[in-house]
Amino acid sequence: MLCAKRKLTGEIVTAYLASKAHAPFVCPDCRDEVILKTGKRTVNHFAHVNPLACLYAENESEEHRRCKIEIFLALQKEPHVRKVALERPLGTNRPDVSAEINGVPVAIEVQISSLSPKTIQQRTMEYARNGMYVLWLLQWTPDLNAPRYTPRLWEKWIHAAYFGHVYYWLEGLNVVSYHFNPHFKSIPKRSWYSPKGKKITAGGYSRRSKRYRTAIRGRTFNLASDFGPRNRDWWEGKDITIPAAKLYVDRQRNSVATEFYEI
Ligand SMILES: [Zn+2]
Repeated sequence: MLCAKRKLTGEIVTAYLASKAHAPFVCPDCRDEVILKTGKRTVNHFAHVNPLACLYAENESEEHRRCKIEIFLALQKEPHVRKVALERPLGTNRPDVSAEINGVPVAIEVQISSLSPKTIQQRTMEYARNGMYVLWLLQWTPDLNAPRYTPRLWEKWIHAAYFGHVYYWLEGLNVVSYHFNPHFKSIPKRSWYSPKGKKITAGGYSRRSKRYRTAIRGRTFNLASDFGPRNRDWWEGKDITIPAAKLYVDRQRNSVATEFYEI
């Protein structure tokens, strides 16, 4: 958690700027006590004294905190960006970073841990009800450079929702888009003889992998200048359902046929 409330004043403070002299702090959700954690090796953050009691006391990774704070600080420097906030409560959602970018209300969610497609779907619907345009980001990983990549189910959900693209965060406001192509495995041709002496031949073709995809790197985009709002319709594929949604997508994104993104 990067934000907390000062118990004495009720003011919301960011761990990045807070001092231990301003303690005690409480969680904005459950109002239990939280402690400011600082250190050279960690991004300043708040931790629940009793983590089991709160829904938001999930174990947040250091890389997730670093990513959130970097996007937050970079957005604050942009001229056409207002109301930049960390972990702002919004209905049942609490977007990692939210802001008004070129007049558009935007929620940015950085997903690093695993998430069920059902959860991501519900949160996306909640954003649409609140009139927020959501951008689901993932952290870039060198695995994307490998000849084959294994997207997780919710990553495929994002791919389908964003018209055949997933955006990976690089640094500051820079994200890179990837498209997943089907991955084919070649089955070598081989022959053998059955017990009755009949020659049997099999293989010699390519089979589409269920598990793997080929990740194709696309352009790098700036979150503050290259994205815009986009409403999309409900869509249902084989394993994936995308609700009607308000999405924040790069402006290059044209409508594409569904068979292009359902892979
Ligand atoms: Zn709490």
